[in-house]
Amino acid sequence: MKKIIHGLIIILLIGSVVFFGFVARHFDKSMNTVSTQQIVQADDYHLLSFVADLHCDMLLWNRNFFGMHKYGHVDLPRMQKAGMAFQVFTIVSKVPKGINIERNDDQSDQIQLLSFAQLRPPKTWFSLKDRALQQCSQLYDFARASDGSFRVISTRAELEQYIRDRKNNNMLTAGMLGLEGAHCLEANVDNLKDFYDAGVRYIGITHFFDNEWAGSAHGVEKGGLTEAGKELIMKMEALGVIVDLAHASQQSIDDVLRITTRPMIVSHTGVRGACDNQRNLSDRHIEAIGKRNGLIGIGLWETAVCGTDAAATARSIRYVADKIGVDKVALGSDFDGAIRTHFDVTGLPNMVVALKHEGFNPEEIDLIMGGNIRDFMLRNLPED
Ligand SMILES: [Zn+2]
Repeated sequence: MKKIIHGLIIILLIGSVVFFGFVARHFDKSMNTVSTQQIVQADDYHLLSFVADLHCDMLLWNRNFFGMHKYGHVDLPRMQKAGMAFQVFTIVSKVPKGINIERNDDQSDQIQLLSFAQLRPPKTWFSLKDRALQQCSQLYDFARASDGSFRVISTRAELEQYIRDRKNNNMLTAGMLGLEGAHCLEANVDNLKDFYDAGVRYIGITHFFDNEWAGSAHGVEKGGLTEAGKELIMKMEALGVIVDLAHASQQSIDDVLRITTRPMIVSHTGVRGACDNQRNLSDRHIEAIGKRNGLIGIGLWETAVCGTDAAATARSIRYVADKIGVDKVALGSDFDGAIRTHFDVTGLPNMVVALKHEGFNPEEIDLIMGGNIRDFMLRNLPED
């Protein structure tokens, strides 16, 4: 009898692992899609000095980092194929049901279901902080298992060393950690230190809903920074954690600009002058971020740029470059952000061709394709 029960338990466990594995893969495959598989040749692509991107949510998915996939947007072999030098891996910890860019409350949470379906550790099912920290440690696990081909950057000294090492081996790749929404600090400003220690170097204050720190562009109230939010922003500045204004409400952006002095980023966005919607930056904010020596990452998906190809992204990049300078605009793909991007990471040569059509010269294209991110991080990451 005992043997039969043991056997049944084992069958049940194997069955649920297979079932949940299938479900998780299905989510990943159906949510992270592309508009085109067509990759154009860009003869001078390999000459780019530092291909980089400001925003990718790959850590949300149980995809094997070391396998080359036909679905999703990013894994190590595809990063290497794309000559990717530096990718920021961002952490999504809570997403309400039925998200839209106009108005969302915080009453539901699809990431809880995803954490469960992907059989992440049980503590990640219930705590946003544990859920986010688990994703942070996963990136370091990838680095440890990569035999030196992938590393995590968290200081200027590490970035300088990496740039030197990469001169001798352009198959090297690197990542940095960012948060998409500070709600995973669980309303406690002291948790900032834990995320800093876990390697997080930029924080987007809000995601799709208003939280205890600030109003979201897609929230119910869309208010500004709360008193706690102001304290958090000041502590981030003091620690050297970069503020990301992606998804922040108009009022929150104004408030951050008013109380801070350091450069900020907008990690993945579009601009209203080229694509007018609730998701995107106004001219006034583009100019204010430019004056602060900030960096604006333009997205590779339709809502950001009102088009489904590299040309649409290049038009928005042109708009920002003309307004505040070619040294303040970059790629903010939102790869693996449960969206349809123009192409996966191996499609980045399409961007080079589209930027040429926009009239950018090779030096300018080199900056836009990653040089600006490298230079911004060299200026703004904590020293060591
Ligand atoms: Zn986002």
